[in-house]
Amino acid sequence: MDTLSASNKTGKLRKPPWLKIDRRVTATHERVKNVVKNERLATVCEEANCPNLHECWGQHGTATFMILGEVCTRRCRFCSVKTGLPRTIDFKEPNRVGSSVAELGLKHVVITMVDRDDLPDGGAKMVVETVHAIRRHAPECAVELLTSDFMARPADIFSIVDTKPDIMSHNIETVKRLTPQIRSRASYERSLRVLEMSYEHDSSVTTKSSLMVGLGETVEEVVEALQDLRKVDVSICNIGQYLQPTATHLPVQKYYHPDEFALLKGKAYELGFTHCESGALVRSSYHAGEDYESFRKKIHPLYRNKG
Ligand code: SF4
Repeated sequence: MDTLSASNKTGKLRKPPWLKIDRRVTATHERVKNVVKNERLATVCEEANCPNLHECWGQHGTATFMILGEVCTRRCRFCSVKTGLPRTIDFKEPNRVGSSVAELGLKHVVITMVDRDDLPDGGAKMVVETVHAIRRHAPECAVELLTSDFMARPADIFSIVDTKPDIMSHNIETVKRLTPQIRSRASYERSLRVLEMSYEHDSSVTTKSSLMVGLGETVEEVVEALQDLRKVDVSICNIGQYLQPTATHLPVQKYYHPDEFALLKGKAYELGFTHCESGALVRSSYHAGEDYESFRKKIHPLYRNKG
């Protein structure tokens, strides 16, 4: 029995050694934690039990802020963010996000959000306000947005693209066949449409999407998903291992070996992605700043000349 199929008495797959996490807490970690706490901000790092929290907070001094509250109106079966009817909107949140980005001295920030299907605009206006606040407080900071699908409403998507984020990201999360079982109120086609609308509205705004593996998909289905993303001109893709956040979430069907992640990365480049991160601990926002720098070097000759 190999590492990938080894299971314990409960039938649960055993985690392979490459998923071992260093949980040491550093002074930088404490600093990020204090800013998040004092400014009453939510992070997807905490809410989604991200395995990289100690590395991102402790070594890189960064976090991914989750705006519009901590309660999501959808109930995806892979995600541990609380679900229910959210509270009202905190109109001062954008300013606190902006000042926190400045206080942490971030050069690249990822802003994500809960789904707010209770709001007529899905929270689009607050995303726009947050980008403006970051630009006021930290004008040099690159802004990466990881948004919901806004039910593919053009006005909401265009209003966000019009802020010209450095990256506009929306995740397909999984392959086409598994989407109905795994995501809630979302569709594979709509997610592709959101990315397509964004690119068609302003092709100078780079689009990105991420997906998890280990939920029961085949490699062929992952490649098909990558092909679908390329058909709508997505330039950056991230592929990471699904990890079951709690016992009530979907179990892991398979732990991909690092060689399999390398193979998927090769496929992504063959299909024409400008940048791809593929690895067990890769998440949408994992090493996002470094990846964006690498992406810029690949596409901008002038930037490349600056070394
Ligand atoms: S990978 Fe993203 S969500 Fe996870 S800890 Fe790092 S910044 Fe937070």
